[in-house]
Amino acid sequence: MGGKTGLIKGFNRITDFEAYSKVCESFPKLCPRLVPSPLWGLSLANLARMEPRIASVISDNYPELVERISVYWMSLDRDGECQICGGKGNEIDEDWLYFVLDDRGKPVSITAEINAKINCRGLAYLRAFRLLCSSCHLAKHQGYAMIQGRKSEALEWLQKVNGLGSLDEADQLVGKALDIHSRLSDIGKWDLEIGRLEGMDEETRKSVQKLLNHMYSSGFRLDGVGYTTHRRLQIGLNSSPNRRPTPS
Ligand SMILES: [Zn+2]
Repeated sequence: MGGKTGLIKGFNRITDFEAYSKVCESFPKLCPRLVPSPLWGLSLANLARMEPRIASVISDNYPELVERISVYWMSLDRDGECQICGGKGNEIDEDWLYFVLDDRGKPVSITAEINAKINCRGLAYLRAFRLLCSSCHLAKHQGYAMIQGRKSEALEWLQKVNGLGSLDEADQLVGKALDIHSRLSDIGKWDLEIGRLEGMDEETRKSVQKLLNHMYSSGFRLDGVGYTTHRRLQIGLNSSPNRRPTPS
């Protein structure tokens, strides 16, 4: 479990203001927090897979850091129980939370009135890593499941692990999460913050945070899942106007 850092430190109960907190009340075990589209591709998993020579394009200091992240990422325990369903855990999930801050840095509720043009900023906060089984991991990433043609499978599992009454109910709740995702994706300015993660020293934590913010602000994106997904979705959107961009 990560300790509170930076901007988050001032929040009493961080989940009170988290953008998905309301809809997550209906998903007691596993909540599909979709990644806002401006942040696609910016993950520790992608950094860990980044080639050092690509890192050197951003800065001379980064190849060594990327190497360190890669070693750290590979060292995470992938052998144990899924933290959600108790099944066989074998995949690492990044548990990011998303906040909207006003022009004084105070967290505000995500409501219909939120407008990116009135000085709101987004804050993405990596709270912890979780060991999940492949079914729970897919169910967490409903948007990814959709574009992989595995929506039913992901929805059924989400219903099952959360003990929801019907698939329709699960589908409607995912629709609410998609609405929040859409609002978050309208926010044009984001900060990324890394919480205190088990086994990661403070210097690495700060460096990773700096690298992700540097990549975000310079528009640099990894040619990973986020990027290719985005492209595929744009193609999909042309033929299916009702589908939303849902990267993860
Ligand atoms: Zn599971």
